[in-house]
Amino acid sequence: MKERYLYPHIDALALFDAVRQGLGEGSVSPSWREQSEAALAEASSMLGLLASLSGAPVSIHPITTQEGGVQRWLLRRLLEVPLGLAMGDIRGCEHVEKGAGPIAVLAVAWSRRIVCLSRECFERYLEELRPHGEEMACDRCGTHVPPPGPRTAMAQLGHTILVAGLCQECLGAGTQAG
Ligand SMILES: [Zn+2]
Ligand SMILES: [Zn+2]
Repeated sequence: MKERYLYPHIDALALFDAVRQGLGEGSVSPSWREQSEAALAEASSMLGLLASLSGAPVSIHPITTQEGGVQRWLLRRLLEVPLGLAMGDIRGCEHVEKGAGPIAVLAVAWSRRIVCLSRECFERYLEELRPHGEEMACDRCGTHVPPPGPRTAMAQLGHTILVAGLCQECLGAGTQAG
């Protein structure tokens, strides 16, 4: 299956493994870790809230490198977020751009804008985060999905939530019950 990525030529998963192995546990300061844990908790509760607020069916995927299919795609797209920020291809709200530490953020697969979870930033960037007419295509395979359009899928990596619109086939592939 053809899969769409921001950086098709960069294996973000391999990069992630390399960085993770290079980082010793002791290299993180306690205050950074505390802030990181708070951001993680915020992202997790936001994930649940987004799912319950959305009228449409939403599937939340645990992500893993062990599985193939949609989980692997979601993980790679999540890993592309910091990469895109570093390369300037993804723009964040001002809190993300000059963030002094880890904060919870929301990324959507059809936009190159990511925002922090403050109400202020949500409201300001809502138009850019909302899917428009041309985003009736599946974010993973690019297939046009007839109305009501792609189904919403969400996944979380650390403090980052990714929302994607997927066709039935992409959602189904690689996911066992649940
Ligand atoms: Zn913000
Ligand atoms: Zn698809």
